[in-house]
Amino acid sequence: MAKRDYYEVLGVQKGATKEEIKKGYRKLAIQYHPDRNPGNKEAEDKFKEATEAYEVLSDDQKRQIYDQYGFAGLEGMGAGGGGSYSHAYTDFQDLFGGFDFDSIFGSFFGGGSRSRGRGEANNQGANLRYDMEISFKDAVYGTKTEIQFTHNESCEACKGTGGADGAKRKTCPTCQGAGQIRRNSGFFSMTQTCPTCQGAGSIIDNPCKACGGSGLEKRKRKIQITIPPGIDDGKRINIPKQGDAGRNGGPAGDLFIFMHVQSHPQFERSGEDLYCAVPISIMQAALGAELTVTVLDGKKIKIRIPAGTQNGKLLRVRDEGVPIGNTGRKGDLYIKVIVKVPSKLSSKSKQLLEEVSRIEGENESPEPLHLSELNN
Ligand SMILES: [Zn+2]
Ligand SMILES: [Zn+2]
Repeated sequence: MAKRDYYEVLGVQKGATKEEIKKGYRKLAIQYHPDRNPGNKEAEDKFKEATEAYEVLSDDQKRQIYDQYGFAGLEGMGAGGGGSYSHAYTDFQDLFGGFDFDSIFGSFFGGGSRSRGRGEANNQGANLRYDMEISFKDAVYGTKTEIQFTHNESCEACKGTGGADGAKRKTCPTCQGAGQIRRNSGFFSMTQTCPTCQGAGSIIDNPCKACGGSGLEKRKRKIQITIPPGIDDGKRINIPKQGDAGRNGGPAGDLFIFMHVQSHPQFERSGEDLYCAVPISIMQAALGAELTVTVLDGKKIKIRIPAGTQNGKLLRVRDEGVPIGNTGRKGDLYIKVIVKVPSKLSSKSKQLLEEVSRIEGENESPEPLHLSELNN
């Protein structure tokens, strides 16, 4: 079988940064990890392919050799062979660490943070990921919504046992009853769930027709969820026991809802504070003004522009920001004042402004200022 180009495998460009390579791999590793795709040969191959590609492209030296000589250059270097995975192994924490994957880790990656004994070990259903788009406003104020997803439930025909009537279990020929096999594929050289028996150590001689012996069947499900106020982009909500059902009576996995907050045409968010801008005229800036501004929740608030307000000034409105958990407190709203210079003037206005200019006396030879003054 011809090998696919490593960059193509990870879905990145040839000049990709380390970060892009890591991201590409992370996505594939989560999608195709054997623990999430039990018995799926295609997923297993994809996972191996991605791991091998990542092992090479994340290593400066190997990547350079690959760029220059292709696959041939790497022969004998142990790429994909487990010879030198210590480097990639170190990266593992880094790869998933920043993502708060702790509890997903346990079941996605067959051990690690969760200690599990054999027997119970592989009966736990997989944790599932659900990606959810949410409006900016709903993320700030919270909402209730319904989601629909597909997960594995216990097969009704066999009550989850996987066996047809009178079926018997016999020792699994692949792992001789151990439930686990040792694998050496790149840096995932570790003990893994046996793909034949899914860790049970035994297989059924007469599998249930409805589920093919897995004891599970895919079902659609709708659930109501409550999004708490103040949730931010990239955060996740855990719904216990709504992942895949466990095997042989094992516990169900959890459902993790990852939040993707849409941007808003007027407001931006930084932590618990909201930001927006309002335009004012040079006359309002010079003389001061009272404005009515509609804030994110649709309420109208009054803000006072002091006389002599400069362009870019940030006004703070207390307690009009993002609710802070259940504390009843809120962040603040910051309004940036943008002074608009009129581009069209009536002849009357022009005449009056000329009058002002004459009275005030304009500085016709200003001293140059440093550009950094723009920020002040
Ligand atoms: Zn069944
Ligand atoms: Zn087995």
